Amino acid sequence: MRRESHSLDTAAVHAGRDDLAGLGVHALPLDLSTTNPLPGIESGGLSYEALASGGAVPDGGSAVYARLWNPTVARFEDALATMEHAEAGVAFSSGMAAVTASVLALCLGQQKPHVVAVRPLYGGTDHLLASGMVGTEVSFCAADEVAAAIRPDTGLIMLETPANPTLELVDIAAVVAQGAGVPVLVDNTFATPVLQNPLDHGAALSLHSATKYLGGHGDAVGGVVACSEKIAARLRQVRAITGGILHPLAAYLFHRGLATLPVRMRAQQDSARRIVDWLTGHDAVAEVCYPGLHGDPTGVLGRQMHGTGAMISIRLRGGYAAAERLTGDVSLFTHAVSLGGVDSLIQHPAALTHRPVAAEAKPDADVVRLSIGLESPEDLIADLARALVSPALIGEDR
Ligand SMILES: *Cc1c(COP(=O)(O)O)cnc(C)c1O
Repeated sequence: MRRESHSLDTAAVHAGRDDLAGLGVHALPLDLSTTNPLPGIESGGLSYEALASGGAVPDGGSAVYARLWNPTVARFEDALATMEHAEAGVAFSSGMAAVTASVLALCLGQQKPHVVAVRPLYGGTDHLLASGMVGTEVSFCAADEVAAAIRPDTGLIMLETPANPTLELVDIAAVVAQGAGVPVLVDNTFATPVLQNPLDHGAALSLHSATKYLGGHGDAVGGVVACSEKIAARLRQVRAITGGILHPLAAYLFHRGLATLPVRMRAQQDSARRIVDWLTGHDAVAEVCYPGLHGDPTGVLGRQMHGTGAMISIRLRGGYAAAERLTGDVSLFTHAVSLGGVDSLIQHPAALTHRPVAAEAKPDADVVRLSIGLESPEDLIADLARALVSPALIGEDR
C-alpha cells in the first residue's frame, strides 16, 4: 500500500492527523504517558507480545509502555511515511539511533554483517561503520563500485545524496541496480521528502536526521526511517529491545515542523541559489559546491531530485586560515554544526562533522559548509561579504 493521494504540500499539513476529529481536537495531542492502563492480564500480555515483536497495538489492547508505542510518535511516523510514499515510518531518539537500528535490523538480525557504504557519508555514519562497534564489516566504495563490493553476506547498501559535505549527487536507481537485491538505505536528510523520495527509485529505506530540516527550528533531536511495513516491524522490534525511542515532545515538534517543510525548503533553496550566484566568482572562493552547478553528470536532477536544496560548500583559496577567519568573522551566520534550520549556520567539516572520518575520506581543510536559513539573502550576502577576505589579506590584522 503506497500513500500518495494528496500533493506533498497538502500531505505536509494534513498527514498523520486522521484521528484528530474523532478525538474532538484540532491541534496535535501530546501524550507523555510512560505507561498505559492494561485492560486485563491476558490482553495486556498479548499487547506486550505484539508490540515487542514489532507489531501494532491489537484491537481493544493497550500500548503497555512508552518504549513500545506512543500515539504522538506514531502520528509523526505516519505523516513522514505519507510524504516519503512509504508504507511505514519508524522514529528514533536521533539520526544516529536510526542508522544504528537500521544496521542492526538488516545486517545483524539477518546474519549478514557486511555493509557496502558509498562515500562520502555523514561523519557519524562513517564512524559507526568504520569502528565495527555494532559488529558489522564495511566496504567503503564509490557509487560505481557497488556491484564489485557486494558479498554473499552483504545485508545493506548505504548512500547519501546530496552527499555530505561535497553535495555530489548519487543516482539511487543505478546503485539499486548494482545491488543484486540487497536493500539500499538512502540518507535523505539534505534533500528532505520535498526534493526527493528515495523509495520511488528502488531504495528500501529513506532515513532522516529529523534534527535538521524536518524539525527545522534547532530545538529537537531525532531520526526517522521510511520503509515497507515488513522492514518497519523489524526496526520497531530493534527499537523496543535497544531503547532508542523518540520522546513524544520531539515527535510533536517534528510533526508540527512538517507542516511548513515545503515552504521552508523552497524559500531556503531560493536564497541558497542567490548566494551561490554571488559566491561564484568571488576572489576568495576557489570553488562553489552546489548540486547542478558543474552540470549534472549522473542525470538525476529533475528525474530523482526536484530541486537543488539549501546546502552549499565552498573551497577557500586561503585554505584553513581563511576558513578560520570566515567562521570567526560572520555575525548573522552562527558558527555551529547541524543544518536545515530557519537560521543560517556555517561550519568546517574536516574539523567538526567529519572529524572521525579516516584521513583518505576526510573533507579537505579548505572546505566550509553553509546551511542557508530564512533570513533575507541580501543580509546573508552582506555578512559573507564582510567576512570573506581575499587570500592576500588573510595574514593581516582585521
Ligand atoms: C546530522 C546527520 C545525521 C545524524 O543525525 P543526528 O540526529 O545528529 O543523530 C545523519 N545524517 C546526516 C546527513 C546528518 O546531517
